[in-house]
Amino acid sequence: MADSFRALVLDQKEKSVTAEFKNLTTDDLPAGEVLVRVKWSTLNYKDGMVLNGLGRLVRTYPHVPGVDFSGEVVSSTDDRYKPGDEVVLTGWRIGEAHWGGYAQLARVKADWLVPLPAGIDASQAMAIGTAGFTAMLAVMALEDQGVSTKQDGEVLVTGAAGGVGSVAVSILSALGYRVAASTGRAETHQYLRDLGASTIIDRNELTDTSKPLLTERWVGAIDSVGSTTLAHVLSEMKYHGVVAACGLAGGPDLPGTVIPFLLRGVKLIGIDSVMCPYETRVRAWQRLARELPKDQLQSATTKVALSDILPWGEKILKGQVQGRLLVDVQ
Ligand code: NDP
Repeated sequence: MADSFRALVLDQKEKSVTAEFKNLTTDDLPAGEVLVRVKWSTLNYKDGMVLNGLGRLVRTYPHVPGVDFSGEVVSSTDDRYKPGDEVVLTGWRIGEAHWGGYAQLARVKADWLVPLPAGIDASQAMAIGTAGFTAMLAVMALEDQGVSTKQDGEVLVTGAAGGVGSVAVSILSALGYRVAASTGRAETHQYLRDLGASTIIDRNELTDTSKPLLTERWVGAIDSVGSTTLAHVLSEMKYHGVVAACGLAGGPDLPGTVIPFLLRGVKLIGIDSVMCPYETRVRAWQRLARELPKDQLQSATTKVALSDILPWGEKILKGQVQGRLLVDVQ
């Protein structure tokens, strides 16, 4: 008999998206080689968009959201996985083009999974989640482009109190970088200092785009915000500074000039966590397991029940979520 399990199911009624908790069976699940008992998922900015029917991210309904999950393999027709294996999944458009992690069972492609790395458990993996994984990719991009702790200067993190930003501050400071954290929320200053930020900057100071070059400030930057913030940050990079562009919380536009590239050799590197190749994924997860301070991860994480997810989906779109939201799916 098919297993019954609980899932959050989105549907489209006329032009609005509805959300309902339903009991499904394994017969309802999409095709895939591996059946996973989902233990934990998270709430990311993109989940907020999907839950609210924004951005045309979901084209086919009914749909199970949740862009990432961790859990245990129930059954697999692929030799790489066997029952009981602990796995983590981020990206590959689960939760948007494919059913995602807001359900107690998920059936997915074996290629999408990563074995849970030694050193973290399934709940820590999702406290990290897509946001933390993206932060690690951004740190690796800065390193690959030569940004080093030996340089004289700070690495700036924008949207610092959000999910990507919080983990980026924590990893960078653990690695020995001097970190400047930009936030719009005064109440998060102590939290950001506890994660290791040595300088706190009001995000309103980072929006002026009237001049193509400003005083050189940053050896590197990890940006979750985009728009005028990213344009401003580019104009403040030191010679050969490197910016990793991760997000668009402030908007998808980039209203700047090419002058920072031409006169300071600034590099702008795009970060994509969704289609990231397997080898890079494994490397990033292993580094997260080793290098992200677990006590800071815990202090950056709020645990919520899946049944309470909908109001949180609205909050994240308003920039009101601090750090990471871990979703208990069990
Ligand atoms: P969060 O909402 O947790 O964090 C975003 C932060 O950006 C907020 O906490 C806030 O930080 C800041 N912010 C929000 N609105 C504005 C605004 N209007 N102007 C300036 N700053 C603002 O989201 P996540 O950390 O989950 O994601 C951050 C971004 O990264 C999103 O755009 C998301 O889509 C993107 N992303 C991209 C990925 C990729 O593969 N490239 C993967 C994961 C996420 P504060 O309060 O500190 O100012």
